[in-house]
Amino acid sequence: MISSIDPVTGETIATYEEMPLSEVAQAVEAADRAHQSWSRLEFAARALPMKRAAALLEERKDALALLMAREMGKPLAQGISEAEKCAWVCRHYAEHAHSFLVPEPIATDAAKSYVTFQPLGVVLGVMPWNFPFWQVFRFAAPALMAGNACLLKHASNVSGCALAIGDIARDAGFPEGLFGVLLIRAEAVTRVLEMPLVRAAALTGSSVAGRSIASQAGRMLKKCVLELGGSDPYVVLEDAELGPTVETCVASRLINGGQSCIAAKRFIVVRSLEHAFTERMVDAMRERTQGNPTEPGIDIGPLARRDLRDQVHAQVTESVRRGAVRALGGMVPPGAGAFYPPTVLTGVRPGMPAYDEETFGPVAAVIVAEDEADAIRIANDSPFGLGAAVFTRDRARGERIAAEEIQAGSCFVNAYVRSDPRLPFGGIKESGYGRELSHFGIREFVNIKTVYIA
Ligand code: NAP
Repeated sequence: MISSIDPVTGETIATYEEMPLSEVAQAVEAADRAHQSWSRLEFAARALPMKRAAALLEERKDALALLMAREMGKPLAQGISEAEKCAWVCRHYAEHAHSFLVPEPIATDAAKSYVTFQPLGVVLGVMPWNFPFWQVFRFAAPALMAGNACLLKHASNVSGCALAIGDIARDAGFPEGLFGVLLIRAEAVTRVLEMPLVRAAALTGSSVAGRSIASQAGRMLKKCVLELGGSDPYVVLEDAELGPTVETCVASRLINGGQSCIAAKRFIVVRSLEHAFTERMVDAMRERTQGNPTEPGIDIGPLARRDLRDQVHAQVTESVRRGAVRALGGMVPPGAGAFYPPTVLTGVRPGMPAYDEETFGPVAAVIVAEDEADAIRIANDSPFGLGAAVFTRDRARGERIAAEEIQAGSCFVNAYVRSDPRLPFGGIKESGYGRELSHFGIREFVNIKTVYIA
């Protein structure tokens, strides 16, 4: 049985039977069959159900937001924005897939030579619970528009969201079987990857899951794209405009209750700003309203599961044991839910979980740097390399640091890192490999085929 548990009350909302492997195999075969005819359609024909999916996401956004709130604790307003963003990515690829995949002529000694982009076939998406709609659509919209079929293995705590996405695919009019939902546990993923008709996989999740899926895909010589964890550094230089900088840092740290791969996690502040920055950050974090995500006006809900909450608290406790100071929060509140308060730790140093690991909750680690060079060194002193941001009034300085110095898949100046269908998204180091979104994303699950006519 797979269960959805309300993180506000700890009560089981729904249980689902796991799909037996025979049913999974049928879904794989159906997806492959659907892909055979789907891949021969013109882009304009593929765009029709994709645009209908966008419209359905908008029509159903209130119900989808309620589902997210109940299954993983996202406040309603954030759930509505998430559904709208999914509609955006569907329309983006419906409109641009054709130009992203237009064949590219290449001059050689042939009479004609060019590159064409052919779909791979059935692609398995293994997805996380934190943005239960956005993560799926940003994987599936480009993969489908490129002519592939998609199978979704969603995180076990958001099976209701997985089924709602399956309903949208059906109601939008995608061919039967082209987008399938597999209600299976993580342990069954290997068996799916082993099926010959499954050609590739995308995982968005933790580095632990990434290692496992990458090694299995490697063993079977199948392509995979990995979008993994992050410990994004936000570098605050001495010439930063403090008010907007703190607001941006807090917004980024608390988005989705701190459960975002690209949430700011380490705040690297030059010594001259340390006290002013910390004071303002504590005030701003304290002002945020935490509570039941289905009620209006809530900024932060509970964390998605109690075990994840306990994991975050263990990281805080261990950091404090090693010398960090709780400037705000850092204690588990009473009650049945998975709540964790906005927390600020100061004096964070190497050897502490808040410095070395990803903290997937509302925990800000303030780290002091001596100067710009020291701040860059600390920013890069991480096993991760997903997002990063730099704050300075000198935009040329910020641009130089962002473009040349910081080791990350994206680096923003005076803004928080966000995903956008127009921009590539992904990481380096233990944050994974491959890219989603933009024209780079749609080219991950295609055969970049050379055609040469003598
Ligand atoms: P997770 O525990 O790794 O789970 C992600 C998905 O992988 C789930 O569907 C899970 O299934 C499955 N899974 C877990 N272990 C597996 C294994 N050994 N083999 C095959 N599948 C496995 O991550 P999460 O807790 O859902 O999500 C949080 C993590 O995702 C964070 O580290 C976050 O930074 C990362 N993330 C990254 C991005 C990005 O774009 N880089 C975006 C969002 C989140 P079960 O639920 O059944 O275990």
